[in-house]
Formats: sequence, structure tokens, C-alpha cells
Amino acid sequence: MYEQGVIRPPSEATSLLVRVSRNCPWNQCVFCPAYKGTKFSKRTVDEVKKDIDTMAVEYGAVRVTSAFLQDADSLLLPTGDLIAILEYLREKFPKIDRITTYARARTLKRKSVDELRLLRAAGLTRVHAGLESGSETVLKLIKKGLTPEEIVTGGRHVMDAGLELSEYVMPGIGGRALSQEHAIETAKVLNMIRPHFIRIRTFAMHPKSPMQRMVEEGTFVPMNDEETIGEIRLLVDHLDKMHSYFSCNDFSLNLLMQVDGFLDEKKDLMLRELDAFLALSERQKQVYILLQRSGYYHYPLSVVNDQAVMNQVVPEIERLEKEGKDGFDRYIDVLKSYQLPQPQTDDWQ
Ligand code: SF4
Repeated sequence: MYEQGVIRPPSEATSLLVRVSRNCPWNQCVFCPAYKGTKFSKRTVDEVKKDIDTMAVEYGAVRVTSAFLQDADSLLLPTGDLIAILEYLREKFPKIDRITTYARARTLKRKSVDELRLLRAAGLTRVHAGLESGSETVLKLIKKGLTPEEIVTGGRHVMDAGLELSEYVMPGIGGRALSQEHAIETAKVLNMIRPHFIRIRTFAMHPKSPMQRMVEEGTFVPMNDEETIGEIRLLVDHLDKMHSYFSCNDFSLNLLMQVDGFLDEKKDLMLRELDAFLALSERQKQVYILLQRSGYYHYPLSVVNDQAVMNQVVPEIERLEKEGKDGFDRYIDVLKSYQLPQPQTDDWQ
């Protein structure tokens, strides 16, 4: 038997999951259900090595080519322990050529560039970091426990150490009031870090989250899909044409998954895709949104020019609208919330 954590990035779907610490040391972000109700702890090198031995027997070491170190902030472990784990992992799985991990920006700032270089030499190849926003106001609102300065310094440490960096951005997380600031400040921070990947994670409200209470108190006004696309457009518009891969394609809560590519090659094309959606009639936007939120991913926008599709979907939208002023948006929010992980506690508030 070996331990396994609850989440990993979608790009690590086929990776060996090696748990080096348990849960999240911060665990206070108000939007995040992943580790609520759990406590953080570090695992010893011996515990992790035993897991690696078991996995080598179970999976057959020769077939595994990538691994992901769990859970939310693995680089909190002492650098020496991490090096011992990475070296043992590569010894037991000699075909592995990619080892990645999640890490918080504060941890990345604390690790020196030299320490990160040692980790790279031991086999670490990529760091996934949850930036969410570059706006100080938004970071405070969502209790991220980070400042923009920490995010930039942590990100630059990773880049300067020669590791790959994947930064995760959350459109919609500032709500309507902070949307513009969120987009512009996030672009500013990303332009300073210049990471290899900018991955979009559209915000969806978990019904049990503290943010739901903020909505009831009137301190947070969530955005609908159309507003969120407008925010993503503002973000892309403010990003430099740098050699960073901007991706909406690996997360099903992103409405326009076709907005995807290197900014230095495809920024203008991506802006055109976003504009094409924003230029649709209200009804066409609703049809596209309902199809996508019902699981019909990867439809081109032109699907709304198909009269047969419109004839099928519009009556359903009209039925939802009869259920009240925000009937359509409320239904879409419910569909989106189904795609979120469940908190491991009933008492998240
Ligand atoms: S978003 Fe990341 S840092 Fe925040 S609570 Fe969730 S796992 Fe922890």
C-alpha cells in the first residue's frame, strides 16, 4: 500500500503520484475545497521511499516516464530530503524524464535559486504554482496569504533556476467589483515572471464555500460567463507577446477552450476568438454557454449558426428564464459547481 493525495494538475493525469507531504500548510483560501477539514504534515524520506518501492512493484518501473510530487506545497520539505526522494525515484524508475510538483509562491521565495538548481539537478523539472491573481486587493479578498511581490520573486526564482514554471490564473475570482483590477494587475505580474505556462482556471463558486456567504452579505458579486470572457480578454490584451504558453484548453470550466497557444505567436488570434464570442447576440451566447456547460466541449463558436441546434436549445433557455430573473445564470452556476472537488468536511464555513 502507498499513500495518495486528492488532487493533481490535469497535465499530470498519467504521472506517478508520489506523496511527499499531506494536504495544504496554508489551507485558508476561501474558494478552495481541496484540503478543507484536513491537517498538513510532512512525510519522512523513509516513508516516501517505501511508497516508491511499492509503486515500482505495482506499476513495473520501466513503463513510468513522469511523476508528480503531492500534495499542495511539496517544496516545504528540506532541500536535502527532496533531493534524496528525487534521486531514489529516478533510481527505481529509470525511464522517468519529468518530475513536477505544486508549490506556494512564499515557499519558492524562501528557497534560494541555488537550492532550486540542486533540485533540478536531482531530477525536478517543473513547478506548478497557484497565482490566482496579481492584485493585492483580490489576494486579500480570497485569503491567498501571498503578496504580488512574493509571487513575482518566487516565480523568478524558479525561472532563474532553469526549472519550468506553470502559473495558474483564476478569472472571475475578484467578482464584478475587482474584475478590471484583477485582469490588469495579473497581467503585470505575469509579464514580470514570464513563466513557461499560464493556465486559466475559471472560478466557480462551491455552494459550501465561505464565498457563498460573502454573496449573501453583498460583499462579493459573482460574474457570469460573458463577464468572465470579457475579463480574460482584458488579461490577454495586457500580456506581453512573450514566449509563454497561454492555455484555456486543459480545464473544463473554461468556456472558450480554443483560446490556447504561445502569446508571441497567437495573442492576436486569441483576442479575435474572445471578441468573436463577445460579438454574438445574447441568445447565441446563452446557447453556446448552455452547450458547453452541459458537457459539449470543443464545439466551435459557429455552432450557434446552426438553426437545428438553436431550435433545440432555445426552448430550454426560455424555460429557465421563466423560473425568475436570473434563472439561466443560476442554472449555469449549478452546472459549474458540479465540476468542483468536494471538501473533506461538512463544516467549511
Ligand atoms: S488554493 Fe492552494 S494554497 Fe490555497 S488552500 Fe487550496 S491548496 Fe492551499
